[in-house]
Amino acid sequence: MKVAVLGAGLAGLSAAEELARRGHEVVVLEKESFHGGLATTVKRNGFEYDLGPHRFHTSNREILDFVKKLPGIDFLELNRVSRIRLLDRYFDYPLAFDNVLSTMPLHKGIGMMLSFLLEKVRGLFVPREQESFEGWVLSRFGRGLYELYLAPYNEKLWGIKPSQLSADWASQRITVPSLAGLIKETIAPSRETVRSLVSTFHYPRGGIGEICHGLASAVTELGGSIFFSTEPTALQKTAGGWRIDFENGHILCNKIINTIPVNEYTRLLGDILPPEVHQAASDLKFRALVFLTILLDSDVTPTDHWIYTSEDRYLFNRLSISRNFDSDVRSQVVFE
Ligand SMILES: Cc1cc2nc3c(=O)[nH]c(=O)nc-3n(C[C@H](O)[C@H](O)[C@H](O)COP(=O)(O)OP(=O)(O)OC[C@H]3O[C@@H](n4cnc5c(N)ncnc54)[C@H](O)[C@@H]3O)c2cc1C
Repeated sequence: MKVAVLGAGLAGLSAAEELARRGHEVVVLEKESFHGGLATTVKRNGFEYDLGPHRFHTSNREILDFVKKLPGIDFLELNRVSRIRLLDRYFDYPLAFDNVLSTMPLHKGIGMMLSFLLEKVRGLFVPREQESFEGWVLSRFGRGLYELYLAPYNEKLWGIKPSQLSADWASQRITVPSLAGLIKETIAPSRETVRSLVSTFHYPRGGIGEICHGLASAVTELGGSIFFSTEPTALQKTAGGWRIDFENGHILCNKIINTIPVNEYTRLLGDILPPEVHQAASDLKFRALVFLTILLDSDVTPTDHWIYTSEDRYLFNRLSISRNFDSDVRSQVVFE
């Protein structure tokens, strides 16, 4: 089969590699002059920065082995260090109640404990709905922590109210403390802060973009082609499959794999799709991101990989320090 893949990000290139390895003819069409999409590393004058901090983590051994064997990949294994900047202090991330209580101003800490306990009592009589981010978080943390950090951060990140966000987002991202653990910590706080979710992650030396670099090399080594600066203008059905037009020509293929934004893809399909599909695609909302990278001629002291900033006084959601991912790169801080 001849398969065209739209988009040379992680999804497009891994699909292309898989197909090429199974003996199919593959052509990847990418509108930019580089591959990687969101998982790109920009390299300039000895500086290297990703589009926001990216870490590679998977519990699937097969995927890990596959990525480790890609051409040119040299994986570093790092212990995640991340914190939250709030009330002019630094809190551990992932959130741990003991750390929140020991770092918080006393009156706020007491208020937070009371709202947590109140929420537990309330839950016995009037359980909260568990569909939204708001209900899920309130029932587990109480209103104090919700209003101080969890609600403002997530609203700043997504641009919508926590009541409109799905609880799935919370359950994937937030560690929940046990009531027993909380009581124990309050009565007899441990001397050392035990970080509940110390996690390690993999990071390719040279930046996250090395993964796509390895995938792209594998695709071409297997006989596949990648056309850069090529943006399809129309997709038409043919007897054997599809015709894809772009500015300087066209290609014929049996199948298409799409990884470009859904609304762009439906536009290319034109009349092939019914109006309600076009309507649904154009109703999809996107959250744009702007990255500001500051290149430094001196070292940065924090050892964090990234720091979250939920407060409105910070224009950005998070800052990351590239050198803490890969000590070979020059110092820079990325704000997103
Ligand atoms: C700030 C940030 C941090 C993240 N951190 C992590 C992390 O730590 N770990 C993790 O696993 N994931 C992380 N992600 C998510 C990860 O980056 C994405 O899931 C992944 O890169 C998406 O890959 P993709 O191939 O699906 O899409 P994309 O990367 O968007 O690739 C799509 C490709 O299609 C191209 N394209 C678009 N339109 C057209 C067109 N009309 N014609 C041709 N080509 C087109 C684009 O140029 C791009 O190359 C993060 C994302 C962001 C934004």
